[in-house]
Formats: sequence, C-alpha cells, structure tokens
Amino acid sequence: MSWEENVRKVVPYVPGEQPKSSEVIKLNTNENPYPPSPLVAKALKDYDAGLLRKYPDTQATELTDELAKTYGLEKENIFVGIGSDDVLSLAFLTYFNSGKPVIFPDITYSFYDVWAELYRIPYETKELDADFTIRKEDYLCENGGVVIANPNAPTGVELPLEVIEEIVAFNKDRVVIVDEAYVDFGARSAVSLIPEHDNLLVVQTFSKSRALAGIRIGMAFGQKKIIDFLKDVKFSFNSYTLNPLTIAVGAAALRDDAYFKEITAKTVKTRERMKKELKELGFSFADSKTNFVFARHESHSAEEIYAFLRERNIFVRHFKKPERINDHLRISVGTEEETDKLIIALKELIK
Ligand code: PMP
Repeated sequence: MSWEENVRKVVPYVPGEQPKSSEVIKLNTNENPYPPSPLVAKALKDYDAGLLRKYPDTQATELTDELAKTYGLEKENIFVGIGSDDVLSLAFLTYFNSGKPVIFPDITYSFYDVWAELYRIPYETKELDADFTIRKEDYLCENGGVVIANPNAPTGVELPLEVIEEIVAFNKDRVVIVDEAYVDFGARSAVSLIPEHDNLLVVQTFSKSRALAGIRIGMAFGQKKIIDFLKDVKFSFNSYTLNPLTIAVGAAALRDDAYFKEITAKTVKTRERMKKELKELGFSFADSKTNFVFARHESHSAEEIYAFLRERNIFVRHFKKPERINDHLRISVGTEEETDKLIIALKELIK
C-alpha cells in the first residue's frame, strides 16, 4: 500500500486572480478600491522593528480593546484571526461535531463546502429561490449547525435581520454562524442579537469595508461561552497567529471611524450608480447590499463579457459552477473612474 492512500485529500478553494500588472482594473475579488485609513500608513511608518523580537500578545489586546469599543461589546465577546477565512475555518472545526449535517445555501461562499470536506463534517445545501433569496423554512429543521452569509455572496442579497433571528432562535441547540463579510455596505448586523442568543457567532472582516485585505484580520463576536470554545480550539492549533504589526494596524484602522464611514458611503453611492447603468445596458440582478453586483445580461453570455472585459484589462469574476449561476458575473464596485471605464467598455460590446 502506498502512503498516498492515507493522505487527507481535498479539493482546495480557488481564490480570485491577483494579476501582477498595476494597469488592471481589478473588479474580481471585492477588495476595497480605496487605500486604508491614513492612520494605518502612520502606524506602519512609526512601527518599532525592535518589537518584533518578542512573541506577539496571544490575546491581541490592543486590537480587541478597539473592537470592543467600536462594536459596543466586552473583550470576552471577541475572537480575532488571520482574516475571516481563518476564523470561519476554526469555527467549523469547533462547533460542527455532532455528526449531523451542517446546512448552508447551494449558492454561497464556496469555501464552506471545502472546510466541511476538509474536516469531514457532513453537510447539506439548501436551494436558493429563483431570485436568489434564502428560504427561511429550509433552515427550520433538524441539522448539525447553520452557516449563512449575510448579505450572501456571490448574490449580494440581504436576508432581513428578523429572519436571521428566527433561524437563530429555532436552532437554539446548535450553532448558527452568520458570515457578515459585506455587512458594512448597507445591511443590518446580527451583532445586536448576541445578548439574547448563546448559539450565535457573527463573523466579520477587515478585508472589505476597512480596505485591509492584505493584512489579514477577521473577527468573531458572540457570548463568552461560544467564544471560549473557539479560543480553546485555536490555542490547540497555534497560539500565535496575528503578529504585532497586524495588531497595531488593525487598531489604527478602527480609530479612524470617519474615514471608514467616508469610504463605505462612497462605495454605496458608486454601487447604486453602477446598478442604474448596468440596468440600462440590459443587465439584470438581485438587489445588492454589498460592494459587488451579481449580474447577467439578456443577450450576451457571461463568458463573452468576461473575455471582452479581460482583453481591456478589466477583471471581473465568473463562476463556472454551479451551473445555475454560470450565466452571471460578479463585478466588484470600484472607484467612480473605474466604474466609468467599466461602463464605457460594456457599451462598446453592447451597442
Ligand atoms: N466570507 C465571505 C462571504 C467572503 O466573500 C470572503 C472573501 N473571500 C470571506 C469570508 C473571507 O475574507 P477574509 O478571509 O479576507 O476576511
């Protein structure tokens, strides 16, 4: 028997392309088109390299203190990790251990099934409606845990907070993870539900609304008990994750609330304009509450539009699978100028 037969085999998640050229208009990975806060640049510039001699603070106190202030929580309600991918992956490992299937939508963040496969967690997907809405009834059933991205990705659709609360309340004997990677672009957060529900874990990230995808900070919010279980697994895996420079940068970003509000408002404004222009060009899409629009065209295939834009150095995301969405493109909201260029290019194709 070969050792290969005993290897844990997985089909990895494929992230969006990161082209080397700075000429590219990058609308394919939902990054923020604006730089992070000037306070971040200052924190980097002023950082004392001598501090790197020591191991990091395992509690990331400077960052969790700022998060507690920003979100009106106590430090014991907060967990931080290397981007929300790290936090979500540890959450799958921690909470989904019943042997019963974990449930999430058929069209959602395509990392969920990868983690389930990796950790050998049984799972079942629930079909979205034709208009990409999550059907509440599908989540009011026996299961091993629930994962909902809200707003959902790549659809951009928000599930009302009242529905999230109903799902959390129904599933009180298992954990419900609400992945709020895009919540800051106009949706309502489930953080307000935490005091009433000990089975709720809300996950957020610095990658989108705080323009810090490169630094890798994600966080989970919940009652002390649920957070403590996550910490136990994390500290059984690797005590040091966030490095001290990242901790300082994250704290600096949180101290600049005015800048955060300014750039998210700009993105929301550009998104609404982009929706209008895309509609005029014959695109249709469910209403997006995120920093991207998930659209299909009435007469041009997604593949054709994707290739046409790519030739003009405009990158968008096309998911070939599942089949139900392969006629769609996910287009991130860029700056006003980038959006102008996108619309001009599309007008060339769609006359
Ligand atoms: N959740 C969703 C729904 C996402 O789209 C992403 C971005 N790929 C993530 C989580 C992970 O983001 P990050 O690890 O950068 O925080």
